Amino acid sequence: MGILFSAPQVEFDIIREEWLQSVTQIAKSGLFVGGPGISKFESAFASYLGVSGAVGVGNGTDALYLALRALGIGPGDEVITATNTFIATVGAIHQSGANAVLVDCDSSYLIDFEQVKAAITSRTKAVIPVHIYGQMVDLRQWLPWAEQNGIHIIEDCAQAVGSALDGKAAGSWGVMGCFSFYPDKNLGAFGDGGAVVTSSPELLTNLRRLRNHGGEVRYQHEIPGLNSRLDSLQASALHLKLPYLDEWSDKRMQVAGWYREYLKAIDDVVVPKCVTECRHVYHLFVIRVRDGQRDMLKKYLQKKGILTGIQYPVPIHLTPAYSFLDYAKGAFPNAENYADEILSLPMHIAVTEDEVTMIATEIGAFFNNNNEVRGW
Ligand SMILES: *Cc1c(COP(=O)(O)O)cnc(C)c1O
Repeated sequence: MGILFSAPQVEFDIIREEWLQSVTQIAKSGLFVGGPGISKFESAFASYLGVSGAVGVGNGTDALYLALRALGIGPGDEVITATNTFIATVGAIHQSGANAVLVDCDSSYLIDFEQVKAAITSRTKAVIPVHIYGQMVDLRQWLPWAEQNGIHIIEDCAQAVGSALDGKAAGSWGVMGCFSFYPDKNLGAFGDGGAVVTSSPELLTNLRRLRNHGGEVRYQHEIPGLNSRLDSLQASALHLKLPYLDEWSDKRMQVAGWYREYLKAIDDVVVPKCVTECRHVYHLFVIRVRDGQRDMLKKYLQKKGILTGIQYPVPIHLTPAYSFLDYAKGAFPNAENYADEILSLPMHIAVTEDEVTMIATEIGAFFNNNNEVRGW
């Protein structure tokens, strides 16, 4: 018996009947792209987050790109983000024509605000804090600073749907929040999807135009745009899943609690530190082990039927794609060290306490057999 790393198929089982009915309805209506299902989901999602509006788009990367475009950010501008993120955050900045400026993370893996403050120049237009692994960057101190410096905060919420700080949802803090509905995310579609949310009426209009060839009405093109729409089948799946999201987040938190409990006794494992008092929705449960042991542990667990992940093995500034940004190895020591030490354990709504016990037992056994170097 194996333990899956993520399990979107379990979520599908829960909404199967209703979704199949909606597929039939959509097929009958002929409205495969657009149609009332899109705005119904957008309204439900916006009210869940406590913002004025949501704009469904093709994927999370486009959500970030369109957010930048909606603000008019492009060539000559600088946008700051963390080097320990999924490639898409920086890809979207690059796509906009702006310069990506990278900074390091702290020991909670979140973008280091002190470094953000030090990195701004007269060309800095926006910062993209990434709510990585499901926890929120503490934006309370960011807002007055951003206001004072005329800098836009665009939240990358791809891993943090359902997370909140002081009761205020991730995505509702910055000028815009960008979400991914990639199937493995905490609110996943049955394919690609994404959304940008905001409470600014002007930005909502801009976003609705940009995603649909520059106009909300067919063949009326107000601005240059592109084609990045959420399709009807995805919107209906998301609409059916949204009511379960809080329950599913609670489930993930319970799994995280079990991991903390059963891994406590293993000195060689560093469990995630919670620095902000946010609702951490555990998109991923990321542990750290000594460099040099991580890959061995990953292989060992795989042999035992336990699938793990590495999010992410190479910080952006060390990828071939973004070597042109010209950061040296050693520029961001935290992100670089962590990249060699992190391991994401199985995390989804169907992980059981028995499975967590078994995973912890195997990790313990691994270190008992490989304990020649200790010292955490
Ligand atoms: C998944 C993800 C994205 C991109 O979303 P896609 O829907 O895959 O394009 C962006 N940023 C982060 C942090 C992500 O995890």
